[in-house]
Amino acid sequence: MAQFAVIGLGSFGATVATQLVKLNHDVIGIDSNKKFVENIADQITHAVIADATDEHVLEELNIQNCDAVVVAIGEDIEASILCVLNLKNLGISKIYVKAKSKAHTMILTHLGVSKIIHPEEDMGVRIAQSLSYPMVSRYMSLNDNHYIVKVKIKDNLHGTRIHSLMSHAPEVKLLLFKRAETIFYTLESNLMLQTDDILVVEGQLEPLKRLSKQFKSE
Ligand code: ATP
Repeated sequence: MAQFAVIGLGSFGATVATQLVKLNHDVIGIDSNKKFVENIADQITHAVIADATDEHVLEELNIQNCDAVVVAIGEDIEASILCVLNLKNLGISKIYVKAKSKAHTMILTHLGVSKIIHPEEDMGVRIAQSLSYPMVSRYMSLNDNHYIVKVKIKDNLHGTRIHSLMSHAPEVKLLLFKRAETIFYTLESNLMLQTDDILVVEGQLEPLKRLSKQFKSE
């Protein structure tokens, strides 16, 4: 169990805080607005009304003992930056900050913030990708060009042999295969795919795009 602080309990901050509690962590939530603190008080470990631009207040709350702090103050860039400076002064190295604009991101980068989050943009990218690649149920980016992707076999590929599907992108590596509740790490190359089988593959964007064309049922 780790100890986290979330500063700013709007919809983003409140979601981070309550999810961390569900994952069995200790969470202190801070907001200058009483209403937001009251809304979440019974769902997190401690909920405090405080101004995070005041370093002494943060120190009194023992923020310095937290494993990481999430700053989820969106609109008030000045408050967000002052809060980050206070956290740095208190020696906290793991700071995640929600950024609203390019200027905000630039300043945070210069302050050496370990993780800058753009929730709306990230969600927009994910929605566009899931519309463009509906067969992809999950993906993880390893770097700009390299992904691990989980795909579900639809009716149009039922009865296709796995080697025939994978031959469209031989560079892509099949990491695992799941049928019902059973996971396979090695497969007969002539295995016949069935609807709802799951494949987890790894590869670069271009071959993955080539492979994805096979999943589209025109
Ligand atoms: P959402 O997550 O709802 O999209 P947002 O990005 O629009 O939020 P804001 O609503 O501007 O962000 O701020 C989030 C929360 O941060 C608000 O509840 C606000 O009261 C709180 N907040 C703003 N300034 C401070 C401060 N100095 N100290 C503590 N909390 C603050």
